[in-house]
Amino acid sequence: MLEQAKKILKKYYGYDSFKPGQEKVIGSLLEGRDTLAVMPTGAGKSVCYQIPAAVFDGVTIVISPLISLMKDQVDVLDNLGLPATFINSSLKGSEVKNRLAQAAQGNYKLIYVAPERLETEDFVELLKGINVSFLAVDEAHCVSQWGHDFRPSYRKIGPFAEKLSKNILIGAFTATATEGITKDIGKFLNLKRPNVYVTGFDRANLSFAVLRGENKSRFVQDFLGEDRNKSGIIYTATRKEVDNLFETLVRKGIKCGRYHAGMTEKERTSAQEAFLKDDIAIIVATNAFGMGIDKSNVRFVIHNNMPKNMEAYYQEAGRAGRDGEYAECILLFSAHDIMLQKYLIEQTVFSPQRRTNEYKKLQQMVDYCHTSRCLRKYILEYFGEEEIKDNCGNCSNCSEDYDSADITVEAQKILSCVFRIKERFGATVVAEVLKGSQNKKVRQLGFNSLSTYGLMKDYTLQEIKDMINLLTAEGYLHLTEGGFPVLKLGTGAAAVLKQKEKVWQKKRKRKEMVRDDTLFEKLRILRKEIADRENIPPYIVFADSTLRELSALRPLDGESMLKVKGVGENKLARFGEEFLWVIRQHNTEEE
Ligand code: ADP
Ligand code: MG
Repeated sequence: MLEQAKKILKKYYGYDSFKPGQEKVIGSLLEGRDTLAVMPTGAGKSVCYQIPAAVFDGVTIVISPLISLMKDQVDVLDNLGLPATFINSSLKGSEVKNRLAQAAQGNYKLIYVAPERLETEDFVELLKGINVSFLAVDEAHCVSQWGHDFRPSYRKIGPFAEKLSKNILIGAFTATATEGITKDIGKFLNLKRPNVYVTGFDRANLSFAVLRGENKSRFVQDFLGEDRNKSGIIYTATRKEVDNLFETLVRKGIKCGRYHAGMTEKERTSAQEAFLKDDIAIIVATNAFGMGIDKSNVRFVIHNNMPKNMEAYYQEAGRAGRDGEYAECILLFSAHDIMLQKYLIEQTVFSPQRRTNEYKKLQQMVDYCHTSRCLRKYILEYFGEEEIKDNCGNCSNCSEDYDSADITVEAQKILSCVFRIKERFGATVVAEVLKGSQNKKVRQLGFNSLSTYGLMKDYTLQEIKDMINLLTAEGYLHLTEGGFPVLKLGTGAAAVLKQKEKVWQKKRKRKEMVRDDTLFEKLRILRKEIADRENIPPYIVFADSTLRELSALRPLDGESMLKVKGVGENKLARFGEEFLWVIRQHNTEEE
């Protein structure tokens, strides 16, 4: 049966081989075993239930948490040539009946259902006469209260499955699986002797970076300035920070959207849609954004703040580069992020046992932000992957895309200033003294006669503050907690002052765009035209990786176009001619 699965992968999806982990999961389901697949974001979970759905007689029901994204999921399948539909509260009763009648006739292979449906009525009754062969539960961690995506209606899935048929095959899919969550999934979904697979955590095309002490807003602006067409997500820790960064970027003339739970449903949906459709390339968001967003051409995910744990980080960062093309995941760390996350734990987690657990995970996240080892290795070890290379060559600690600047002299000036003002003031006063500020407070305190006064007058106040942040992030300085935080010397400060230790700052090298993208750009414009005409997001027409291959291989007929990754038979029939025309046209122009 795996042979058949491979054929389907080629014929419908246009892929030659499985991604790591997919084959095992599909094999297990085809053998009729309940299966729990824990695979990171972007690993390709959908294919793991869609292919069995295509192989089995009858219909597969997919439980999926977000109504707003169901149409996209169904559009993906329609464009692949796998008939599918969805049922949720956006439909009238008559339309629901109509779709179920069609299903009874065997017109669909998959039906996406919102979990709320299982709550409001006796959905099992409505399914009478429909041959349901398989129940796939996407984002299965929503069944557990341990994660932050808990959906009470997910608890109805177990009883629903039981009523549907005693031995209905169940597949559960998630990217987050800490122990509590996997246990809950097994328990609440009534999985029977499930095969559990935890695989595919390495996302080789993603480059990981941690930068400490950056001026975040400046960094983001510079980064976005490199390539205005690049699509990406910028995550911040709070709604307020979303609004601030969004407004700054808009003021600088950068087109972007925003998304957080404080906006109206309508505003959120429209921002999400604009992003999916490539009408805006960039979205600034809290972690409320992203679940079920399958847009494959996200080229970067920047974390403006450190998230609360590695699970959250990898899930959010993993939304970059689903198409397998190079994508960047950059985390901008500052010491303040730790305080914020601690505050959030105190405000939201009440059981002492869970609090301890959250603090432990937070510490592992902080360690990630400070390790000088390979970041990918750290991530893969964290998630329990085996056989990991020591240096990936593609993270800020292993890659040549990152420089280390020696800032020991500046560090010495700052540390000695903190020492001279007797560790009694915050970053602003320290920066003002070093800058040589004339302000009243500095003069009243007599700091204008210190030896460090004006020692960094060539820097702006902001630059000095950024360096203070870096030293805090690195532990050379320590910021006290409470209403009036003051800077104290931290571990290692003495060694730096005594010339025994150097201080480095990791910097991302600016990237020059060199690639000749003319044909790619033409194909991208065509893709957008087709997408708007068909009212689907561009990534559903073809992934960036497919456009990239088309522009490199330049197929001139259908047969050779089918060899391109991501071109299946159905898409060839639907869009092939238009793309081939552009390629031929481009070739003629070049002659
Ligand atoms: P997940 O749900 O695990 O986050 P998706 O199911 O959305 O991931 O898949 C991520 C991307 O990988 C999609 O763009 C999908 O088309 C692509 N993909 C899935 N399987 C393969 C494969 N075998 N070869 C190449 N690309 C694949
Ligand atoms: Mg998914």
